[in-house]
Amino acid sequence: MQVISDIPLLRQQRREWQNNGRVIAFVPTMGNLHQGHLNLVREAKKHADEVVVSIFVNPMQFGPDEDLEAYPRTLERDALLLEELGVSLLFVPKVADIYARGLEQQTFVEVPGISYMICGASRPGHFRGVATIVCKLFNMVQPNLAFFGEKDFQQLQVIKAMVTDLSMNLQVFGVPTTREDDGLAMSSRNQYLTAQQRLIAPILYAQLQALVASIKQGRRDFSKLVSACKAHLLEHGFSPDYIEVRAAQTLMPPSHEDTDLVILAAAFLGKTRLIDNIQFQF
Ligand code: AMP
Repeated sequence: MQVISDIPLLRQQRREWQNNGRVIAFVPTMGNLHQGHLNLVREAKKHADEVVVSIFVNPMQFGPDEDLEAYPRTLERDALLLEELGVSLLFVPKVADIYARGLEQQTFVEVPGISYMICGASRPGHFRGVATIVCKLFNMVQPNLAFFGEKDFQQLQVIKAMVTDLSMNLQVFGVPTTREDDGLAMSSRNQYLTAQQRLIAPILYAQLQALVASIKQGRRDFSKLVSACKAHLLEHGFSPDYIEVRAAQTLMPPSHEDTDLVILAAAFLGKTRLIDNIQFQF
């Protein structure tokens, strides 16, 4: 596995692969890899000749009071895991090269509408940061295919919208959420949890499952269901940020005709913000 920080070197390898007709898949990450990330890589390998993974903790997508500095960085371990999986190239660009003119001057990509709701409302500017870095990485790697986790459901929709709107020549794949045995969605941020909080954390997913079950049984009083769910989470020590029932394709409040739904949730346990979602048909 090649480990490359230098953007021209990455482009050189990219050209070589293209000349040899290789299909290139790309998995962007912020590192501190867990099985969720590795499952994206495994899925990418099924569809491509060469898999490129990037590790870049992107300052542009963190708010001023968020965990940019504390975000776990475990490059050596990550590289070993990726090598074992047969990744061709690990791209680890430097902040100074990515944002060469400084963050303040950086041209940005913003997907309107979908970026401002739900998580975007709680984290202003977050999806602008995500869309901008993913667009830049796509321009550098120029993959044929790109793989993202459904764990970050809204992010996946933002990326798909960006690719469509900007006529980008690549295919975006969503990969189902990888969970711990007790149902907690794997996340690099789970390690911020205390032992006590870690015991409570799976309740978030359990509550979403209960909500899905109620809707499948015919309940349509979404706001009542959501309020009860929030109350339950509060009782268990969560501070719910949002719980939303939305149409899966548009993330808008569902109309009577919408049958493809998603429940999206974010809740704090102490200072740790957990997110999760379930997509379902009824
Ligand atoms: P991150 O390093 O958190 O930015 O995540 C990099 C990619 O891995 C994103 O596409 C995430 O949606 C995906 N990802 C993170 N956690 C999981 C998980 N538990 N299951 C599936 N994909 C995940």
